[in-house]
Amino acid sequence: MTEQAKGPNGLRPKTNLVRGGTDRSEFQETSEAIFATSGYIYKTAEEAESAFQGENANYIYSRFSNPTVTMFETRMALLEGNDACRATATGMAAVFASLMCMLKAGDHVVASRALFGSCLYVVGDILPRYGIEVDIVDGTDLGQWEKALSRPTQAVFLETPSNPGLEVIDLESVADLTHKAGGRLVVDNVFASPIQQKPLTLGADVVVYSATKHIDGQGRVLGGAILGDPEYMEEHLRMFLRHTGPALSPFNAWTLLKGLETLDIRVHAMSATATRVAEWMAGRDDLPRVVFPGLESHPQRALVDKQMSGPGTVIGFEVPGGKEGAFNFLNALNLLDISNNLGDAKSLVTHPATTTHQRLSEEEREALGITPGYVRISVGLEDADDLMEDIDQALGHAA
Ligand SMILES: *Cc1c(COP(=O)(O)O)cnc(C)c1O
Repeated sequence: MTEQAKGPNGLRPKTNLVRGGTDRSEFQETSEAIFATSGYIYKTAEEAESAFQGENANYIYSRFSNPTVTMFETRMALLEGNDACRATATGMAAVFASLMCMLKAGDHVVASRALFGSCLYVVGDILPRYGIEVDIVDGTDLGQWEKALSRPTQAVFLETPSNPGLEVIDLESVADLTHKAGGRLVVDNVFASPIQQKPLTLGADVVVYSATKHIDGQGRVLGGAILGDPEYMEEHLRMFLRHTGPALSPFNAWTLLKGLETLDIRVHAMSATATRVAEWMAGRDDLPRVVFPGLESHPQRALVDKQMSGPGTVIGFEVPGGKEGAFNFLNALNLLDISNNLGDAKSLVTHPATTTHQRLSEEEREALGITPGYVRISVGLEDADDLMEDIDQALGHAA
């Protein structure tokens, strides 16, 4: 085991996941307190005046900030190795705010095609309505990035590994091209999780999370997070969040703080199980296409080794027999649950073509590798042998 570098507070990452950001009240509680309050009081009118002038550290209103939310933000910032983090109510609020806070009519945005369905809606449908020109490229083709970024660009948005095709994009190269075009690179880092990929150290300017996924990881709450360079956090994001209101609730922030305490061990365990299951699947004669960043056969395997410290927790594969085969497989599962969530302690299985990516045309789905038989498994914390037994018997019903 290599020794981990200390964070700015003198503690290493695993310690910070448990203790980072904890701010105890006068009652000396062990577990972080939930400050279930919308507002705050001032001892004097003068104190209120100076709070609104930003001259003291008083909390003003929970739309702006809240002590429980601040604890979550501080812990996330320590985890990512960034000065600051801002939490949001959902991952999509984080994605939307991360882009809208810095864009205006006439700007140019480039995004990869293989995105979470709602992210594709934000960049492909919403941004153009406000006079923002958007180019969508094949994220694995550097030539397409180069061409799209040969003119001034304000923002680049991508996801790697992508959902659900698990394509991997070269973060350092795209960050370079983005900076030459004068823009900021925003990375949706949900699939790798903050444990297995650090986009900010690879040149990204902003990283966004759906904390709903691995960070909660136990199917309880929605949440999001945005981390970026100091100028971005201060000049663009701060006022946008304050005045548009995608604030995270104190209860959800507390749940996510508890999630962070076990994030490292959960992601490592889920990743190890996913590796075992993926290797077992890849060895089967009846499964022609198994996609997992940890497999030697992954098309961008060298990149995976270069920019990720682990393979993630999601496996994609083609069930024989198209949509009918996939539906038969899903319906025959006894243990794995049919659900569109991911990163959960419970293993979940999704049929992207008819759920998360239903809105796309057949050609668009085909371009993303979302064939009628393609199924995505988010591997949880169960025993790998129980998962393989269930997948094995369900595959018997596929054809
Ligand atoms: C789930 C997800 C989101 C959206 O997050 P919510 O918390 O559901 O709003 C965005 N990007 C990716 C990659 C996701 O998996």
